[in-house]
Amino acid sequence: MENMKYVQTTCPYCGTGCTFNLVVKDGKVCGVQPYHRSPVNEGKVCPKGTYAWEFVNREDRLTTPLIKKDGKFVEATWDEAYDLIAQKLKSYKPDEMAVLSSARTSNEDNYALMKFARGVLKTRHIDHCARLCHASTVAGLAAAFGSGAMTNSILDIADSKCLFVLGSNTFEQHPLIGRKIVQAKMNGAKIIYADPRYTATAKQADLYMQFRSGSDVAILNGMMQYIIKNGWEDKEFIEKRTKDYEKLKEVVMKPEYDFENVSKISGIPVEQLQQATEWFAKSEASAILYSMGITQHTTGVDNVKSVANIQLLTGNLGKAGAGVNALRGQNNVQGACDMGALPVVFTGYQKVTDPAAHKKFSDAWGFPDGICEPKNGYEVTVMMDVLTDKPGELKAMYIMGENPMLSDPDLTHVEHALKALEFLVVQDIFLTETAQLADVVLPATCYAEKDGTQTSTERRVQMWRTAQAPPGQAKLDWKIIAELSAKMGYPEQFSWKTSEDVFNEIAEVTPSYHGMNYARLNRPEALHWPCPTTEHPGTPILHIGKFSHPDGLGVFHAIEWKPPAEVPDAEYPFILTTGRCIWHWHTGSMTRRSKHLNEEVQTGWIEINPEDAKDLNIVDGEMVKATSRRGTINVPARVTKDIMKGVMFMPFHFAECAANVLTNNVLDPIAKIPEFKACSVKVEKIQEA
Ligand code: SF4
Repeated sequence: MENMKYVQTTCPYCGTGCTFNLVVKDGKVCGVQPYHRSPVNEGKVCPKGTYAWEFVNREDRLTTPLIKKDGKFVEATWDEAYDLIAQKLKSYKPDEMAVLSSARTSNEDNYALMKFARGVLKTRHIDHCARLCHASTVAGLAAAFGSGAMTNSILDIADSKCLFVLGSNTFEQHPLIGRKIVQAKMNGAKIIYADPRYTATAKQADLYMQFRSGSDVAILNGMMQYIIKNGWEDKEFIEKRTKDYEKLKEVVMKPEYDFENVSKISGIPVEQLQQATEWFAKSEASAILYSMGITQHTTGVDNVKSVANIQLLTGNLGKAGAGVNALRGQNNVQGACDMGALPVVFTGYQKVTDPAAHKKFSDAWGFPDGICEPKNGYEVTVMMDVLTDKPGELKAMYIMGENPMLSDPDLTHVEHALKALEFLVVQDIFLTETAQLADVVLPATCYAEKDGTQTSTERRVQMWRTAQAPPGQAKLDWKIIAELSAKMGYPEQFSWKTSEDVFNEIAEVTPSYHGMNYARLNRPEALHWPCPTTEHPGTPILHIGKFSHPDGLGVFHAIEWKPPAEVPDAEYPFILTTGRCIWHWHTGSMTRRSKHLNEEVQTGWIEINPEDAKDLNIVDGEMVKATSRRGTINVPARVTKDIMKGVMFMPFHFAECAANVLTNNVLDPIAKIPEFKACSVKVEKIQEA
């Protein structure tokens, strides 16, 4: 048909990075069709991918800049919005401003905002929502291996002989990675699954171990003790490729980590622990897949280091079918981290405190008045605390494509924090809960309206391609930042004409992206970083032969198990854990605007074990009151044996029954990630008036 075309692009939802064709009719995106040449998903997509076109042309897309006057938004021109933002931001000192970048937008957008923060505003305070999902991975794996990313590739999962899936509901959160688990199983692999909920992923497992949220380190230490006692460790690997093994041994061989005790801590029967450990240790190649069940704890970094420990112990690194496969959440959370949208690094994890790196970026960017100080900035969770606890220290914030008013823990606290700002700019595609609090809102483009790149969980850098024009006056995110920077006196530093120009600058300053360009990325398999030269084929498997530390060795860490910060007591007797469902994505700003996805699941719920429901006199479907030390919500009950007694589960996508009103803003001391996966709650029947 003349007015119809297919545009190949990459899914804007999860970190799997599936490719599909957007169907465009009369200049408007109107469907998704398979693209069979992508090795990641081979033409398949999950429900979110299938309907990833439905929000694009919604009538409530932001189409013009908005300025708040007397508490109400008024439409403005771009010049009016830029002038106001420039005038306000110029009135603050660098350290009084903070920037939140976005794992939903492209690498080019993240790079532009990072350069804006450090070069134009000269602030140290830039972060993004990786803080809420995999900050523990970046810190934990970097400590163990010298690089904080997923070690193996998605395709490689199908070659594993044993998969231990821990704290990841892969079939709902990364469905096309779930497909690789099925392929591994069909190839004869054993699948072990550990999670507090009997999820869709549990149904595929050869062995399902239901455990109490927050007992991961005890389980892993116990498994390592059992491996060592049975002589199943890989002695040659430990000898040649690792250090600090004796320190690990000293801790994991303690009596408190024998399976009798681990069973008491975790709730997993001893026989299951033994079976899982034997399968895992004896297979030729065993991989661990984990997600936020591991990372979102006050012990998130400890949990990640423990996962690394067991793979170092069994020699399951630097080879096919093995590895530590941290499944990153959002489409471009890996890329946003790679682009330096973090308070401690420039692109490619070059430390801001390293004088050589600081000089390199200062020279490359050429700001005549210099860039931010070579000091670490605040993490997003710390920014919120500073706003409430140290009034006046932070005064202005610029948020691109994030929605902390639904995604962050303890929402009452977040609301107080954002309302304490003197000036808030939000750049987004919809008027989110956070945008509603802004002084200025800027309309941005979505994935279907831009060329650009995103980096999936497996470090594969893939292309977005423009399928339609943006609505109204909406603009590319990097272009908005470049135009604003020009208004603030820095036109030369942001003189890019195309997304490709931005990417070429990224490749120039980022060693792991040096060998990439749009011509090389514009093919179905794209490229995995590190890709240091234009001849380099990319690196699907990390740590072959040596680790990324200067001495090439992997490092064991001796980790003791610690319980969650909040444990059940007489007043709040249940553990609450949170997560996602297959139909919705994060704060629902896109999926809840997709007709089909919203029809499938229209609101949130709380899962309650039948025995607990009986004790509480609650029946399936009734509205109940859930309360933590932070707040109270009313939410429909879902009574199900899928959740273990004493534990409750809520998805966090839904503003009308927001799980994060209840969650605890207590942080891992290193990664500053909040403990979303365990807080204490009480649940009550709502008494009729
Ligand atoms: Fe999109 Fe993830 Fe589904 Fe693939 S698995 S279609 S990337 S949401």
